[in-house]
Amino acid sequence: MVVAGAGQAGFQVALSLRDKGFTGPLTLVGEEHGLPYQRPPLSKAYLAGAAERGAVTLRAQEFFDDRGIELRHGHPAVAIDTGARALRLASGAALEYAHLVLATGSRARVLDLPGTGLDGVLLLRTLADADTLRTRLREPARVVIVGGGFIGLETAAFAAAAGHSVTVVEGLDRVLARAVAPELSEHVAAVHRHHGCAVLLGRGVTAMHGDGEGRVSAVELTGGERIEADVVLVGAGVLPNVELAATAGLPVDDGIVVDERLRTADPRISAIGDCASYPSPYAGCRTRLESVQNAVDQARFLAGSLTGEEHGPYRAVPWFWTHQFDMKIQMAGIGGPGDERVVRGDPAQGRFSVFRFDGDRLVRVESVNRMPDHMAARRLLAGERRPGQEQVADPDFDLKAFAA
Ligand code: FAD
Repeated sequence: MVVAGAGQAGFQVALSLRDKGFTGPLTLVGEEHGLPYQRPPLSKAYLAGAAERGAVTLRAQEFFDDRGIELRHGHPAVAIDTGARALRLASGAALEYAHLVLATGSRARVLDLPGTGLDGVLLLRTLADADTLRTRLREPARVVIVGGGFIGLETAAFAAAAGHSVTVVEGLDRVLARAVAPELSEHVAAVHRHHGCAVLLGRGVTAMHGDGEGRVSAVELTGGERIEADVVLVGAGVLPNVELAATAGLPVDDGIVVDERLRTADPRISAIGDCASYPSPYAGCRTRLESVQNAVDQARFLAGSLTGEEHGPYRAVPWFWTHQFDMKIQMAGIGGPGDERVVRGDPAQGRFSVFRFDGDRLVRVESVNRMPDHMAARRLLAGERRPGQEQVADPDFDLKAFAA
């Protein structure tokens, strides 16, 4: 068994294969140097200095040794020879496989704009990126965040709390526009502004300008306005790492195309995590998710099916979380642009949930500091018995009891 990509999904599939009794040779290949680690703290506790490298590392070397998992880190895989059933590494080594798992994740999107190569224009995807950002934010800085998505807003929250001057520039007319309901976007932007972040909506970035010595000094917006900056974090989404699959002739469509059992067109190759595009019963179509839940649940499912557990299709409920200032935001399910929405709780108190319905069918719940709603939502979305809009709109409706 060979796994390409030693991130959250690659680590988990190796771990679960052993837990489920796979005793054959198992190799985990990763291009990054060092032990596999978790990414969520990179824009939260690690960035804030509240967690160090040991706390983000998934397991120590002995863990892999004890389980007979051969960890080859610092080794990019460069090609799949499907005929010879071998994964070729940049080092020249070829690892033969009976089954190959592609868990190559995604990479931060680089904007094609003048000045993106200037010193101080940063991305946040890897531990190395987080170390660079942490170092840059040791001194007071004018920070411009390009993109009001999760990573941009988490970084903005940390930087503002640490006393930096922060401006978030978002091209769409609300933050988190592709991910959450308008009520939540509005609340999140208001909380950021309350903590001193400038949040500019509907404004595109057209260029970064330098100080003449190669360091970024300003970001230019549509209309010509310039915002002075010492550090620019570009949080413009990610691109799935599909190149290994594509050059091996496997179908790719915004992700490595897999079926409901997470197999590619070659039954000896599977794909999981950020890099995989799978048919989701929640989306009602093919989708690609970028979350720890997705990486872990797909890895567990695949390990089960590879070790002969009886399995229907993969259908874990998608969920996600983000922390910004005092907001613990949790989301479950998948929504669509035409969803009808019911709000429970009180946004003014900073504790509420947006229940999203496709017609009268509950499809997604987004909660701010309402953990019980989120837990109930995960249970409800996993089943067929779901509350209607009128029930959810009734403040006396006992959601927890309904979901039990
Ligand atoms: P990755 O973790 O990206 O791992 C893929 C690995 O494969 C990488 O190490 C990569 O270097 C390696 N690789 C790629 N190509 C090759 C190759 N050819 N050869 C060898 N190795 C290769 N999710 C949440 O649910 N909640 C959060 O709060 C949250 N916060 C986040 C904060 C940050 C800053 C980031 C970057 C992500 C966050 N995420 C969060 C997303 C979550 O971390 C990812 O969805 C998850 O890591 C996906 O796991 P993965 O294994 O598919 O991909």
